[in-house]
Amino acid sequence: MIIDGKKISQEIKNEVKLAAEKLKREKGIIPGLAFILVGDNPASQSYVKSKGKACEELGFYSATERVLATISESDLLAMVNRFNNDPKIHGLLVQLPLPKHIDEQKVIEAISPAKDVDGFHPVNIGKMMIGIDTFYSATPYGIVELLKRYNINPSGKHVVVIGRSNIVGKPVANMLVQKKEWANAIVTIAHTAAKDLSYYTKQADILIAAVGKPNAITKEMLKPGVVVIDVGINRIDDPSSKTGTRLVGDVDFEHVKEIASAITPVPGGVGPMTIAMLMVNTLKAAGGKI
Ligand code: NAD
Repeated sequence: MIIDGKKISQEIKNEVKLAAEKLKREKGIIPGLAFILVGDNPASQSYVKSKGKACEELGFYSATERVLATISESDLLAMVNRFNNDPKIHGLLVQLPLPKHIDEQKVIEAISPAKDVDGFHPVNIGKMMIGIDTFYSATPYGIVELLKRYNINPSGKHVVVIGRSNIVGKPVANMLVQKKEWANAIVTIAHTAAKDLSYYTKQADILIAAVGKPNAITKEMLKPGVVVIDVGINRIDDPSSKTGTRLVGDVDFEHVKEIASAITPVPGGVGPMTIAMLMVNTLKAAGGKI
């Protein structure tokens, strides 16, 4: 079974749109999401553009502040503070990475936890960790939602996460270990210190790869029937494509799909879920829910 993130993300966006219309009708509230884009990193520009487009599609209000990479840390913090105090804005997102002279953590912590729809603020991460409802960060939240909507129940299953980043590996492991009906898994996190990665991956009922390396996970490393969630987004050379490159995940999809019971493709798996869940978080920040 191919887990179709494109289809599920569209379903979620449709639900968010309806819920946003209801919020406007009943309470006169339009969810508002602000973006701060520092510098001219093409990937960041493209992410902010896609998120802005999603706002438009769902009837959200959005505001984008584009600032030069030379902005001082204090000016950036002042901008964050302005959005923190702007009643039209319910969610605020500072697109990462930031230029080296700016302390990223300081900026994340300056965002009001109530508007932190990226779920990166330590207050929200702490709440997630102890199982209090909060803004879950969008990619891990998208993975949980994909499992839920495909009726893949992680309860009692061995979930093996490869990668320990603060935005994917650690939070998804944390979410799935919670004693909740959509989680309750036995979770292992493996990372670069693993001497024999196969030892861990072979035990996985559900494997989540967040490595950032093409073909990091091959068929030989997995057991038949495994559910594979491929978070990786890697651009590789492909002379047969028009652009000369194409996107692949961390998993050798063509071979692994022969033994997996379910697998996410790249593109079209976890990727589209990230924006959909950001919209769910923004709706929630504005007082709505799907
Ligand atoms: P990261 O570089 O911060 O973390 C990668 C992790 O993989 C590290 O913790 C490292 O310990 C581990 N790792 C690297 N090589 C390994 C190896 N050989 N064996 C075992 N562990 C290894 O990356 P990230 O931000 O977590 O992102 C991971 C991938 O997911 C990237 O390709 C990124 O582009 C993608 N990503 C996708 C989305 C999405 O929306 N689909 C969102 C975020 C990240």
